[in-house]
Amino acid sequence: MKKMEDYVRSIPDFPEPGIIFRDVTSVLQDADGLHMAIDKMQELLADTEFDVLAGAESRGFIFGMPIAYNLHKPFVLVRKKGKLPCETVEKEYDLEYGKATIEMHKDAIKPGQKVVLVDDLIATGGTMEAAAKLVEELGGEVVKIIFLMELAGLKGRERLKEYDVESVICYE
Ligand code: IMP
Repeated sequence: MKKMEDYVRSIPDFPEPGIIFRDVTSVLQDADGLHMAIDKMQELLADTEFDVLAGAESRGFIFGMPIAYNLHKPFVLVRKKGKLPCETVEKEYDLEYGKATIEMHKDAIKPGQKVVLVDDLIATGGTMEAAAKLVEELGGEVVKIIFLMELAGLKGRERLKEYDVESVICYE
């Protein structure tokens, strides 16, 4: 029986020397890998009561949507700047080189709603920290943040220490 990590292809020196890139396309390209990924991420929510699932562009959409569908919850998009058509809130955050900005529709979260955030992978935690701040700005409560993969060496979990963070696979 294959384990979840057996479906993840690791690419040395991508996108630059010294980085091992964890590739989710190899998970998605395998029907068993795809099922296992969604099922295992969904299991992380077994004891979590929540109202809305929010996914970060773009791989957070891929993994978040099936979970929202299965659990009959709404799905909200956290998008890169300039893509959402209605009124938005935005948050700038630091990347390794430079900065990025993400946005959410102002009406995506109602005050008091319990929100779960989803992405494929946590590296430094910067993307999800920005997403969590946006949810809070809209009056939502971040009750959990889930990932398929965690790069523990980059200490993203420390950056998100005020939140309940869980991942399916942890790379040291
Ligand atoms: P962070 O904001 O530093 O936690 O970076 C997380 C974001 O970078 C996620 O949206 C990931 O999709 C992407 N990312 C960083 N490293 C990898 C990797 O090794 N494989 C796939 N995605 C990655």
